[in-house]
Amino acid sequence: MTRSWKQGGCHCGAVRWEAETDDDIVADACNCSICSMTGFVHVILPQSRFRLLDGADAIATYTFNTGVAKHHFCKHCGVKSFYVPRSNPDGYSLNLNCMDKSQFASIEIRPFDGRNWEANAETLAHLSKE
Ligand SMILES: [Zn+2]
Repeated sequence: MTRSWKQGGCHCGAVRWEAETDDDIVADACNCSICSMTGFVHVILPQSRFRLLDGADAIATYTFNTGVAKHHFCKHCGVKSFYVPRSNPDGYSLNLNCMDKSQFASIEIRPFDGRNWEANAETLAHLSKE
């Protein structure tokens, strides 16, 4: 498995970041209340493999329910390009839709049943471990 640093960010370009992800990526499409509204497709990784390049002052944060997840979004264009997920509070989840897909050798998107969060969240926990 090979990894490389890839770029991503929000729609208006105020928030820009880079992250070291697998080149053959497996991403999770979640059906929970917020992901189904925003179309968020998850690439989850440890914090050490993520660097915010620009836009710290453009980020606003929304929380709900347990407040563990930090839903960071750009306050100019409204796009949530990355955030701290409840399943992985020690990591980040990047939105695959906010990255140029040509940066990946292959992409597999699998469904994640976040609507039944308690039963399934543990299957994601390893993704943010070093
Ligand atoms: Zn923006």
